[in-house]
Amino acid sequence: MLWKGRRQSQNIEDRRGSSGRKVALGGGLGVLAVTIIVLLLGGNPEEVMQNLQTAPASGQEQTRALTAEEKEMGDFVAVVLADTEDVWNGIFRQNEGEYREPKLVLFSGATDSACGFAQSATGPFYCPGDEKVYIDLNFFQEMQRRLGARGDFAWAYVIAHEVGHHVQNLLGVMEQMQEKQHSLSRQDYNRYLVRLELQADFLAGIWAHHAQRLKNILETGDIEEGMNAAAAVGDDRIMKREQGYVVPDAFTHGTSAQRLRWFTLGFKTGDISRGDTFAAREL
Ligand SMILES: [Zn+2]
Repeated sequence: MLWKGRRQSQNIEDRRGSSGRKVALGGGLGVLAVTIIVLLLGGNPEEVMQNLQTAPASGQEQTRALTAEEKEMGDFVAVVLADTEDVWNGIFRQNEGEYREPKLVLFSGATDSACGFAQSATGPFYCPGDEKVYIDLNFFQEMQRRLGARGDFAWAYVIAHEVGHHVQNLLGVMEQMQEKQHSLSRQDYNRYLVRLELQADFLAGIWAHHAQRLKNILETGDIEEGMNAAAAVGDDRIMKREQGYVVPDAFTHGTSAQRLRWFTLGFKTGDISRGDTFAAREL
């Protein structure tokens, strides 16, 4: 993907390399685990207790410098997010609406969100409560290593999919889903979740179509990378979150073939009116 030298979004919240107030909670649990291990190995409990007391107190920040590779990943994400802003601002304007840009939180390890405590194992997700996309960039390496989804466009696809959930939130689709959550059986609700996810894939395709038209971002093989990622990221390794209402990028994504089909439909047509996955007879 051609991305260097283009505009970077100002809507990035970079929490990598820092442990904030809420993260100290996770740190506390880590310390507890260490305590137990030390005791099992016959360590000195008093020494452990001293370490506990010198652990960062609430509200204090611990920071470390980012590596060059991490900085570049951050730049890449900021460019892709800017691309989504340009595309969606344009589409909303054309339809006499106004696009409220989401924030994107980069974190490492764990962080707090309006939808609960986020961990790397959660995978990327969108929280409607604070209108933020959460991504631990280690996930991208995992994607490559474990799921065989490689290439920078595969990452761009993931970002565009999460921003797609934000678009759904602005359009009221999320709200309708929340209402359904109370009235439907788990099984029926899951059927709607699949349609929600496939629509986010469609919206990622819409983004790719218009970003290409506006900025000529694609290199040979990029769309294949995106399609490969669309098929790969439905892995159940990404667990459903328990707290709050979160789009569970976990187990209810539809089949690989369905994900490919909707992404491709968005990419080929660029026509947002084609993306009513809820009304579609066949997925
Ligand atoms: Zn999703």
